[in-house]
Amino acid sequence: MVIIMETGASPEEITAITEAITHEGLTPFENPGVERKVIAVLGVIDSHKLRLMDKFQNLGGVERVALISDPYKLPSRQYHPQDTVFDVEGSPIGGKTLAIIAGPCSIESEEQTVAAARAVKAAGATFIRGGAYKPRSSPYAFQGLGEDGLKILAACREETGLPVVTEVVDPHDVGIVCQYADVLQIGARNMQNYRLLQRVGQSRTPVLLKRGFGARIKEMLMAAEYLMVEGNHRVALCERGIITFEDSTRYTTDINAVPVLKHLSHLPVILDPSHATGFSRFVGAVAKAGVAAGADGLILEVHPNPAEALSDGPQSLKPEAFAALMEELRRVALAVDRVCPGPVG
Ligand code: PEP
Ligand code: MN
Repeated sequence: MVIIMETGASPEEITAITEAITHEGLTPFENPGVERKVIAVLGVIDSHKLRLMDKFQNLGGVERVALISDPYKLPSRQYHPQDTVFDVEGSPIGGKTLAIIAGPCSIESEEQTVAAARAVKAAGATFIRGGAYKPRSSPYAFQGLGEDGLKILAACREETGLPVVTEVVDPHDVGIVCQYADVLQIGARNMQNYRLLQRVGQSRTPVLLKRGFGARIKEMLMAAEYLMVEGNHRVALCERGIITFEDSTRYTTDINAVPVLKHLSHLPVILDPSHATGFSRFVGAVAKAGVAAGADGLILEVHPNPAEALSDGPQSLKPEAFAALMEELRRVALAVDRVCPGPVG
């Protein structure tokens, strides 16, 4: 941490700062500077960084306090240079083979989910997705089947062998969702729901953490820190589009986030081109871009009959379109030295 003083800071103000630093058990290091003084704060400050920043910022003569190291630690590559790879019931997340998570936006019925699960499995998906608790923007929209939806997902896992990724929206539901899910999804709207993050962090179920559509990358990494500091280290980061001025798509895919997250963090990075674009016709192009950019996997919405879907039909791929996209993804993956899983049967 460095404290940058105002140009006219008095010697008394400088002394007050160095005393405040020493009082915290830390060592001040003064850089005389020509125009203004900069005081470096030396010592281990990890757990009180934010408190110290506020404290020093309030002292007289201080222009600004800046951090030199990242404010997050556990997701940071600085502290853990190797890529994190974890296995979920035989399906890897991270590493050379792409994780392909596919299925409907919402669990609507057993028939619909089983049809989707069979189709995505046959085309090479390694996880089945589907929401039983839906965080809908409108209170009048379909809210999900709750535990009945989780039971349908469990039946699909039984039949296909694919591990289940499903969203949890309420800290009180974490226990019940963990009974059925192999990966807990934290949705974009809940990325900064800190009580939920803590509760999910206390579970030992792997997590797919989606980026809030108005959140910066560093805020997402702080959200990952919330999960990891509770002891849950099997976290994948998901870029799902952010809000910009552009309105020809539902959100704007921040494709930059893929290499930026890979640079800043050791955690696997998954791209969601379905929510990022909002239209099935654009999903394939952005999915391929994500793999080319270095994503460790994709999460894609697939519905047996998108026109009848109770949520996100316009962005859902038909099973045939998903299978065709998987063929193309295999070629893109090969070009960037990755493996896109092959069809089964
Ligand atoms: C979803 O995956 O269906 C979903 C609601 O995603 P997001 O939280 O990214 O909007
Ligand atoms: Mn959806």
